[in-house]
Amino acid sequence: MTIPTVTLNDGVSIPQLGYGVFLVPSEDAERAVTEALEIGHRHIDTAAIYGNEAGVGAAIAKSGIPRDELFITTKLWNDRHDGDEPNAAIAESLEKLAIEQVDLYLVHWPTPAKDNYVHAFSKLIELREQGLTRSIGVSNFLVPHLERVVAETGVTPSVNQIELHPAYQQRDVVAWAADHGVRIESWGPLGQGKYDLFGTPAVAEAAAAHGKTPAQIVIAWHLHKGNIVFPKSVRKERMIENFDVFGVSLTDAEVAAIDALDPLDGSGRVGTHPNDLN
Ligand code: NAD
Repeated sequence: MTIPTVTLNDGVSIPQLGYGVFLVPSEDAERAVTEALEIGHRHIDTAAIYGNEAGVGAAIAKSGIPRDELFITTKLWNDRHDGDEPNAAIAESLEKLAIEQVDLYLVHWPTPAKDNYVHAFSKLIELREQGLTRSIGVSNFLVPHLERVVAETGVTPSVNQIELHPAYQQRDVVAWAADHGVRIESWGPLGQGKYDLFGTPAVAEAAAAHGKTPAQIVIAWHLHKGNIVFPKSVRKERMIENFDVFGVSLTDAEVAAIDALDPLDGSGRVGTHPNDLN
């Protein structure tokens, strides 16, 4: 199975589909990531705050897969933006992951009330120059945060990892990213199971038409949009299901029907508003 890749604005190539490990307890992460790699994943999305980098690292080491065939993302947590803290934070992440360089390092949240995300991103520029990460990006950034980072550092992040699913599409951030060469990574791509996305006619009818599950249709919709996506499940059968999505070619009408799901009754963010997390 060949996983499609996306070339980022710095020339780095990233598998468009990956495996995310948010809320996977450290003791389960080694098993889950081992299974994900066996299924065929080569892109793992973790974060310092997930507390499972050591489990991810153990799975990487045990897999025997050459390092250059893997794409590993981790993230700088909110209390480590100031001073040289980002240098210490990435050193700790690399030690836990037992690798010498990550492929992508992200400022996890902008924490705008602290007004230190521009500094944090400027430190990521240095970390990339030092070879500790190949690519640098941000997460949960809104348009004003993105504009400031670009204006004040002169560097455009390679990705913005944001909450994005059919019931919450962040069209303003997506449009800005498209205009500025920033790729979108969709977190919570299945809405974390908090909305009945799978029961909507748009998703259910496409699933029936393609002989696929609703989850596969939603993942195919993300891929169709050009977004990078890493759905999470710790259940092997769902991991296999979520990986078996490349043959699905949605019609324009199916894509339009899923696009029309935002707003869905009662929908919105499943996560915290980026301005409120500090
Ligand atoms: P998700 O939308 O991938 O939802 C995961 C949940 O969906 C699972 O717990 C399970 O209940 C359900 N699910 C998964 N596969 C299914 C299937 N085939 N059928 C039915 N239900 C299924 O949400 P997520 O885990 O929050 O997001 C994916 C990844 O995004 C995370 O693991 C993490 O790597 C990243 N993330 C990043 C941030 C951030 O702030 N940058 C925040 C949250 C998540």
